Parts: sequence; structure tokens; C-alpha cells
Amino acid sequence: MIDILEGLNDAQREAVTSTEGFVRVIAGAGSGKTRALSRRFAYLVNELGILPGNILCVTFTNKSANEMRQRIHNLTGDNDTGYINTFHGFCVSVLQEDSHIVQYPKSFLVLDNSDIDAMLNIIYEERGLTLRNMTFSNARDMIEMRKTMKDPDYYLDMITMSLDTLRQKYENATETTDIIFYGYLYQEKKCFGLDYNDLIKFSLYIFEQDESVRLKWQKRLEYIMIDEFQDIDELQYKLMKVLCGYHKNLFIVGDPDQTIYTWRGANVRYLLDFDKAFPKVKTILMMQNYRSTPQILAAVNSLIDKNRHRIKKDLIPMLPDGGPVVCHHAVTEEAQAHWIAEQIKTLADSGVPFKDITVLYRAHYITRTVEEVFLKEEIPYTIYSGVQFFGRMEIKDALSYLRMIAYKDDLSFVRIANVPKRNLGERRMKFLQDYAAQNGCSLYDALRRTRDEEIFKGTKAVQFISLIESFAADYAQLPISEVLSAILNESGYERMLRTKGSQERLDNLAELKQSVYEYETSCGEESTLEHYLAHVALFSNSDAAETGDKVRMMTVHTAKGLEFPYVFLCAMNEGIFPSKKTRTLPAMEEERRLAFVAMTRAEKGLYLTEAEGRNFDGSPRYPSRFLLDIDPALLTYTEKPREGLIAEARDYIAYTERFLSEDAHTPRFAVGQRVKHSVFGTGVILDVDTAKSAYLVQFDEIPTPRSISFKVKLNVPV
Ligand code: ATP
Ligand code: MG
Repeated sequence: MIDILEGLNDAQREAVTSTEGFVRVIAGAGSGKTRALSRRFAYLVNELGILPGNILCVTFTNKSANEMRQRIHNLTGDNDTGYINTFHGFCVSVLQEDSHIVQYPKSFLVLDNSDIDAMLNIIYEERGLTLRNMTFSNARDMIEMRKTMKDPDYYLDMITMSLDTLRQKYENATETTDIIFYGYLYQEKKCFGLDYNDLIKFSLYIFEQDESVRLKWQKRLEYIMIDEFQDIDELQYKLMKVLCGYHKNLFIVGDPDQTIYTWRGANVRYLLDFDKAFPKVKTILMMQNYRSTPQILAAVNSLIDKNRHRIKKDLIPMLPDGGPVVCHHAVTEEAQAHWIAEQIKTLADSGVPFKDITVLYRAHYITRTVEEVFLKEEIPYTIYSGVQFFGRMEIKDALSYLRMIAYKDDLSFVRIANVPKRNLGERRMKFLQDYAAQNGCSLYDALRRTRDEEIFKGTKAVQFISLIESFAADYAQLPISEVLSAILNESGYERMLRTKGSQERLDNLAELKQSVYEYETSCGEESTLEHYLAHVALFSNSDAAETGDKVRMMTVHTAKGLEFPYVFLCAMNEGIFPSKKTRTLPAMEEERRLAFVAMTRAEKGLYLTEAEGRNFDGSPRYPSRFLLDIDPALLTYTEKPREGLIAEARDYIAYTERFLSEDAHTPRFAVGQRVKHSVFGTGVILDVDTAKSAYLVQFDEIPTPRSISFKVKLNVPV
């Protein structure tokens, strides 16, 4: 076993060995925060003799939880790695033990986006709504907003109301948003489904309601450690506070320059004010960077220095010199994609494996042109996103079969009862839905009770029931991987794919089997089917399977906390990165931090690219201000942008900067100033109402003065 303190600098050692009380590490990107955190876990276990089951280690994504588990396993040699999880994942553990406090079964379902969509589908059909009323993605956002901001006590309805009362509330709703919201709560309760927000709310509620349960968890978690603390939100903070309330050993690490989730409710103040919120806080600072070359660090320091609201700190390089940071200007998006492909080929020819190369971007839609060129040039790649692996049809189907065996829930039933075809089409499904609604039972139970009726003549209802029943009786005694292989075979699902010649889908199923197998071997006793299903549900929204020697493509948000030898950061253009939705100064500074996060992922090589062209509204596309922020001496241009373009870009940026409001509540104009509105034309400010966050404007062409929100962009007339 390796010496746990080996390969750590003094500050890291101090972080690892300061085990008691409240400890905060504030440190820059790549300074070894995550390394210190995992070593500290191993130190607690190996040196202090703490049982892993008494340690909670919180990561930001499932992907980083998996990596951390692996790292800690290598350090301790222990198969039991305790609670290494995201906040949501940890809440699943709490609920699996204690959901009885809220009268939910242990077999509750964790819902991902596609489950939510399936529920929305039912609601829309029942109430005659269409996507014109609201798209699913807007409906999901609306639900999340309502749950977090408008109706934070919504969960009491789910817990205390009977299913009938909840249904009543839904049926009585008349406003579209109410219909969707209560319809969703009803659907959730009906299958004992919980979304991410519920997981935390329910856990907090359980701790509040039942002191003995709270104490049990508080006593169990002797040490708590949290990575990426700069992006913690209010609910997570509350949960953390409860959990550390007994032993009071809390270790947090974060970097204020990497706060990139304030749009989702994260607040960096929790990190900065940690010493005021807890007693005798020890703060450790780490500035040395072990990840990137001095060239990369010089560029990123120069970039982040442009943020006004920040505590100044520079990353100090520890690695030897590397190549320059390369900046490429392309004339079109296609040319940009070709240049990236060319560079990747050159790297590959010099012996760099594809998997050491990562393409990062601000938003998913950027990938289309890059993908097209990669396909043409035969560069293998994989995209990390929700619909990558776990969102695929065959994977969802296979998991629905597993869920059907364990829970017999309606969502899974609807998904697979007629896949492959069993003659259980729309008409018969409607019959089951009516029966289930009248008799208050699940769809599967409805089928069981009515299978001998006329309507099911000539269907394979009976075969389907005996298939599910026989698996339901045996699955608990078998490894999950065996159950999965057997059900895919005996249900006829794989045969269906074979007859359709869907080799790629069959390959994906093989991949799934492999990942189940790996899950089983890494989890030991905990690897029941129920645990597995909860685990993959958490996985499916944001992570993907990692396979083979391929170039990785992902958004900057997904890349958080990770590192890659070669990084291409593409589409660095105004309107893309920073995104065109950036209207306030705090939002612009968050975009700049996002660019900083992106560039600090690179170890050896960093390539920044941008392409000329037109925006959707026809305006010319300029290089990003984040490129211009960097001292030009620190960048090597492959080809200088056309003369005048940089000057034009600077004018454009300076112009837009003037209209970035401090935030939506701060006025940018004073009484008497002349302004220009995109629709109403020019006018003069009559009054500034800070309570309403609005100006009173007398427009030249409109007789009566109008109230205009601070949020909208007003220009200075030229
Ligand atoms: P981020 O802010 O991006 O999450 P981080 O602070 O968590 O970064 P790590 O990922 O822990 O940084 O470390 C960055 C890299 O530096 C890793 O490859 C890690 O193995 C290496 N590293 C960390 N500390 C040391 C050290 N003392 N000596 C040598 N290498 C180190
Ligand atoms: Mg880290």
C-alpha cells in the first residue's frame, strides 16, 4: 500500500491530516483539491481506523463519484467505500432506509427526464394540452421553478394527501401551469416516483420529522467531505448542515473562480462565508497548479483577471514548459471543424491516442458541423450528454424490463408491454387505463385481472404475465447481469432487434450488460436490483458510458472537475460564448468563469477556435471577448483574423458592455437620460422605480408614459 502522504505538498498534507472540526480549502483549478480530498478519505480509513461507512464524501457529478470511488478503492484496498456520492445519490440511500417515515415504499422510483416526459404525455392527453400550450422542456423547467421557488412546500401535498385528493386537485385545476403541476404531482405519487428535487426535500423532511432517524444518520456520518463547494445550493447546504450536526467534522473544498451554477441556484457565499457560519474554521489555501503547462496557466490567469468581482489570485505553474496556446480564426464554421479535424489527425499521427483529446463547447448545438466533419474524416468520437447512452431506446427498454420485474410500475408497463409486439396496442391499453382508474390499481394488475376477457383474445397477455411473474419470483436470488440477459432473451426483445438487423442496438445492450456486471463486482453486497435501478436513474440525465479510444466531446459544464491532455475549445464567438442570453454583469462574469473552467481542463495542449459568419438575426459574428481578454503575447495565432475584424469586434463588445446591468434589480439609467427601446423607439426616463425594478419612460412616439423593466435592454440613442 502506498504512503498516503506521499506526493502531496505542505498545504495538501495539512488538509489531509486536519481531520477534526470545520476545515475549508480554497484553492485554484488544478491545485490538487480533489486529490487532497481522496487522500484524506484514505487517511481517515487507513491511519485513524475510521470505517468507510462512517464517511460521507460528496462529489458534484456521478462521473466524479465513480472516479473517486475507484481512487479510494486503490488507496485503501477496501471494497466498502462508504458513501461516495452526489447529494442526490446520498439522498437515495437515506430514502432507501427510511422512506417509511413518509409512507413511501423502499421501492420508490427515481425519475429522470424521460420518465417525466412520459408523465407529461399522459397529462397532456388526458387534458387535451398540446406542445403549443407548453413544450415538455418548458414544462419540466416550470415544474422545477415551482418546486424550488414558488411552492417550496409542494412536497407536503405529495406526502400527506391521499392519491384521490391529489387527483382531485389536478382535476379541479384550470390554468395550464396548474394542470401540469398537479397532474405531475399526482403521477409522481401514483408510482411512488421522486425527481431530483424531491429526493432532497423528502430527506430534509424526514430529518425534521423524526429525531431518532436524524440522530442515526448524524451519528453514522462521523466525517463529511464536500468537493466543488463553490456550487452548492441552498437545499444542499441545509442538508449538509443537518448531517454534520452531531460530530461536527466537516471538510469542504472549492474555488470561487469556478462558480458556474448560479443560474441554477448555487451560491458562492456559502464558501466565502463558511468561516462565519461555523465555529473555529481552519482555512487552507493552495495555489500551485500541477495540471497544466505554464503557457496554459499564463493565458487563463490573464483571462480570469478581467473579472471585477473576484478575489485576486494567480495559479502558479509546477509543470515544465509546453507548447504555446494556439488560437485559430476560421472563415466559416465548416472551416473551423476541418481545422480541428486536421489538428487532431496531426496529434494522432504523433502518437497521441484519440481518448486524450477532448472537444469542449458552450452549447450542444455547436457539435453538428464538427460531427459531420469527424464522420467524413473518420475520426472516432463520443458525445457526453443525456441522450448519449442511457437515453437510448434500447437501453431504456431494457431498464424498463428490469423495473417491471422489481416494481411492476405503470411507466415501465406502458413502455414495454407491447415491445416486442404482443398485440397490446392502443385500444387495449386504453381499456387497461380505464380499468385501472376505476379500480385504483396499476396497469399491470388491471391486465392480470382482466386477461381472460374477450378483449385480450388473440394477444400474448398471458405469456407476458407469466414472463414477469416468473422473473419476479426469482430475481432476488440471482445476479442482476443474469436477470438482464435472461429477460432480454426470454421476452423476445433481442430477437426483435436481430430480425430488424439493429446491430448497433444489440451492441449497446452488450455494453449495458458489461456495465451491470462491473457494477455488481464493484458494489459487493449492496448490489441488489433495486439499488442498481436507483443508481442508473441518477446516471441517466447527465452522464454517459465511456468507451474505447475516441475523441470526447462535451459541454463545458459537463467537464467540470475533469482534466484532459489536449483540449479544443471551439466556437469562441460573441453570441455563443458568452451566450447571447448574457444580459447582466454577474452573468457575464459567470460566463468568463465558465471559459476559465474550460481552459483549465487542459494539461498539455490548448487550442482555441472561432469562426466568422452570421448570427441567426443576420448580424456578423465576432470573436469572443474572452479571446480578446487574453494578453495577445500569450497566444499563438495560426492565422490572424482579417484586418479590421478585431477592431470591429472591440467596438461591438465595448458597446454591449455599456448595457450590461449590474443585475436585474439595479438601474443603469437616471432620470432625464435619453434611451432607445427596440420596439417603442426613443424616449426619456421620467422616473426610476427600484421597488418594481422598472423605469417610467416617455417615448417620443407614444402619448402615455410606459413602465419598462430593468431587465430589458435599453440603448443610448446614437
Ligand atoms: P479542479 O479545480 O479543476 O477540480 P483540483 O484542484 O481538484 O482541480 P486535482 O484534480 O485534484 O485538482 O489535481 C490536478 C492534477 O494535479 C491531477 O492530475 C493530480 O493528480 C495532480 N496533482 C495534485 N497534487 C499534486 C502534487 N502534490 N504533486 C503532483 N501532482 C499533483
Ligand atoms: Mg477537483
